[in-house]
Amino acid sequence: MKLMKCCIYTLREKCPQCGARTKTAHPPKFSAADKYGKYRRIAKQKL
Ligand SMILES: [Zn+2]
Repeated sequence: MKLMKCCIYTLREKCPQCGARTKTAHPPKFSAADKYGKYRRIAKQKL
């Protein structure tokens, strides 16, 4: 199942541009939060 770029940037279940289903396990918001989580872990290890 491939997701077009237009699908990635929509928060709706269906992409308004191509009509494909956009339900993903890892939305962009969670990806960004995960990155910060890794930085926090590294910082804690250094301390
Ligand atoms: Zn799309």
